Amino acid sequence: MPDTNAADVKIVDVIAHPLTQTLPRPTVTSWGRYTEVSIVLVEIRTDAGLVGVGEALARFSPKAYAELIETSLKPRLIGQNPTDITQHWRTMRRALSGRAGGMLIEAIAGVDIALWDITGKMANLPIFRLLGGVGRTQVPVYAASVNWGSDEFMDGELDRYLEKGFPRVKVKIANPVRDACRRIERLRKRAGDNIELCVDANWAYALEEAVEVGRALTANGYVWFEEPLRPEDEQGYEQLHRQCVTPLAAGESNYTLDQAMRLVSNRTLSYLQPDVARSGGITETRRMAEFAAAYDVSYAPHIGMSGIVCETASLHLAAAMPNLRAMECETDSSPFKTAITGAAPGADRQKNGYLPVPTGPGLGIEVDWDAVARLRTS
Ligand SMILES: [Mg+2]
Repeated sequence: MPDTNAADVKIVDVIAHPLTQTLPRPTVTSWGRYTEVSIVLVEIRTDAGLVGVGEALARFSPKAYAELIETSLKPRLIGQNPTDITQHWRTMRRALSGRAGGMLIEAIAGVDIALWDITGKMANLPIFRLLGGVGRTQVPVYAASVNWGSDEFMDGELDRYLEKGFPRVKVKIANPVRDACRRIERLRKRAGDNIELCVDANWAYALEEAVEVGRALTANGYVWFEEPLRPEDEQGYEQLHRQCVTPLAAGESNYTLDQAMRLVSNRTLSYLQPDVARSGGITETRRMAEFAAAYDVSYAPHIGMSGIVCETASLHLAAAMPNLRAMECETDSSPFKTAITGAAPGADRQKNGYLPVPTGPGLGIEVDWDAVARLRTS
């Protein structure tokens, strides 16, 4: 951006694109079976000709998110300098009163990521360098996920990921508890001792059930037990932590640092898993990861069912946070990734469980806006 003084750059437009796709195969968790998913891409234009892109987690009713962004957030951004990101976050937060959460914070996340993309382009630096890199050019990832199903189905899922060379694999577990415990043992035997396994329960259990599952996880050397209980039950997590040796992981259901603070600061959680497209974008997710680092809690970015912008923003954060453990890597092909930038599925881009961090300015990706138009929610 050679001919423009950065201080004079102004935002001239904010456009929210609601996108929907049919999943190539359903995602099955304890929470349900998903056949269709949506996101919102946020496009921010400046008078210097720079365009930034962000993504909001908006699995359902994406048009409602787009309306929220264009009617409540856009007017607060037009005419502003895109690099004053912290100030814009505060201003957007004040667009609505009440506790932080839900669509508002997810919408802010989409805008925030686009502002970081523009700021990186203005500085001619990738976002991970703006964040202060730690010399990491690739990020450890784990395969997500072995879907819940019959023994044979889950065996096949595991085999597929091991064939792709993943050294770390996540397994979805659900009810009944007895089946979950049996499959935890079965998959460990099938994977052998050198593969890192973890499970995600998507809030399937009551406390006593989670204690029982926890015993199976500990006996079989699983590295974490993700979202065993509903996220609101913080006391339940604290009790489970006292009765379960396997480390607990959660955070994809947190919208802001405030909501993660208690279970991180009392070290109930060993892994914090914010999703950058939900947890207020790069600005708030960075705060969460850095807060976690102060308590020796690891950062493990969640990106499930998202698009390439969420994945890329997560790679930049992962590359810059000293307490990174491993990032989620989706294994199926998704038009939200392949069509929007031409990127192959993460499972085919990773090598030995590592994904490279883009080195171009900002996010370092090139969006195909024609493809975005084709994915638009009807
Ligand atoms: Mg999860």
